[in-house]
Amino acid sequence: MSAARTRTPRGPSAPRPGSPPDVLVVGGGVVGLAAAWRAVEAGLAVTLLDPDGARGSAGAVHAAAGMLAAVSEAEHGEHALARVNVAAAGLWPAFAHALEDASGVDVGLVASGTLTVAYDAADAVRCRELLALQRSWGLDVHEVTAAGARKRVPLLGPHVSAATWAAGERQVDPRAVVTALRTALGLRDPDGRPTGTARVRVVEGAATGLVRGPGGDVVGVRDRRGEVHPTGLVVLAAGAGSASVVRDEPDVPVPVRPVLGATLRLDAREVPGFRELPVVRGSVQHRPVYVVPRPGGEVVVGATSDEREPTPGTRAGDVFALLRDARALLPGLDELPLVDVTTRARPATPDHLPLVGAGPVPGLVLATGHHRNGVLQTPLTAAALDALFAGEPVPDAVRACDPARFVPRVPAPVPVPAALPVPSRGPA
Ligand SMILES: Cc1cc2nc3c(=O)[nH]c(=O)nc-3n(C[C@H](O)[C@H](O)[C@H](O)COP(=O)(O)OP(=O)(O)OC[C@H]3O[C@@H](n4cnc5c(N)ncnc54)[C@H](O)[C@@H]3O)c2cc1C
Repeated sequence: MSAARTRTPRGPSAPRPGSPPDVLVVGGGVVGLAAAWRAVEAGLAVTLLDPDGARGSAGAVHAAAGMLAAVSEAEHGEHALARVNVAAAGLWPAFAHALEDASGVDVGLVASGTLTVAYDAADAVRCRELLALQRSWGLDVHEVTAAGARKRVPLLGPHVSAATWAAGERQVDPRAVVTALRTALGLRDPDGRPTGTARVRVVEGAATGLVRGPGGDVVGVRDRRGEVHPTGLVVLAAGAGSASVVRDEPDVPVPVRPVLGATLRLDAREVPGFRELPVVRGSVQHRPVYVVPRPGGEVVVGATSDEREPTPGTRAGDVFALLRDARALLPGLDELPLVDVTTRARPATPDHLPLVGAGPVPGLVLATGHHRNGVLQTPLTAAALDALFAGEPVPDAVRACDPARFVPRVPAPVPVPAALPVPSRGPA
């Protein structure tokens, strides 16, 4: 679909400055924008608060490769996450269709399949071990020979010690998804110009705390300038910045930490052979790497994973490491212009499942902690928000993401028997 289709924004317009919105969305990344879109579609007046406005470029989504990798990223110890991801992957076609229809923007959903390649013998052992795990969970993936792998990806380098194929996996273009969401919210027209008919009010600013009512319920947020933004409901969707918003609220645990990741974007428009490829993932001497070619000619190489506090820019060593491993799989990458290098923070929780659902106090909904699968999980998160805005229970598939799992339980009192029997003494 071309970006030329024009849509007239439907539904309510943005709340007037000064009148509290029904919903205040904190964070304008892919999850926050999707939350805002679902809220306006539900007929609610919405304000979105983000230091970056609604551009989406400050968030992890700007780095994301857009793999909808419910199968090939299924890992030991993450069975619950794999189930959530499979459910989310199943919602993508309908979500993309609805979003494209609302915006006129092509989000680049492609059923490309994923080839996973093991570089050396040790990588092959791990590749087959993961294959066995994924198949034991009923996931659609099987082993292919080196010749079979080369048939799917003729550009593969000389080292292929094992390979698997996940035929059903799709990819999407995350930056196009953000553009589509902004367009559906009336923040830009399909050609990128501001529309003047925004369906959501955007405030540039960083939330620094919640505002609580006399009963403890959340009635707004405070921003860095000390300004209070009253609202009927706060949706906390600030990605890796979410924990800092509730740092003074001991009864609102949001255990989200930043996991830094870098991706590179290369341009294969002028070089034959790349656009038609599936996603290629690899393990190169135990280091994971992936290459995501898009039909339009963009090729994304990723990703590093670092548990450290965010710093600006991308380390030269990260660019080196990604290219070293990616070109071990696909040597032809050497020929492509490098056009973009982006590092952002993934929002990770202790169990790697997101926090999606009603918060532990009234007036607060959590939609954060999507870690390395946030693009994949956006339609499922949107479905949960649809239900919450309608006052209905969230879909079954989201239950594992209930924020209540991190709320400490007060231990129930241990029942004490009224009188303990006194043991009778036997004969001396
Ligand atoms: C290198 C890399 C590759 C990835 N690849 C994939 C992939 O292939 N597939 C996939 O499914 N996922 C992928 N992800 C993960 C995905 O990008 C994230 O899970 C997803 O972007 C999370 O969305 P979000 O909206 O919650 O957070 P973000 O996209 O990070 O957006 C958060 C927003 O909140 C704002 N914010 C922060 N603090 C505050 C505050 N105090 N007040 C107000 N606003 C605030 C930020 O400015 C930002 O706009 C990748 C991530 C990285 C880093």
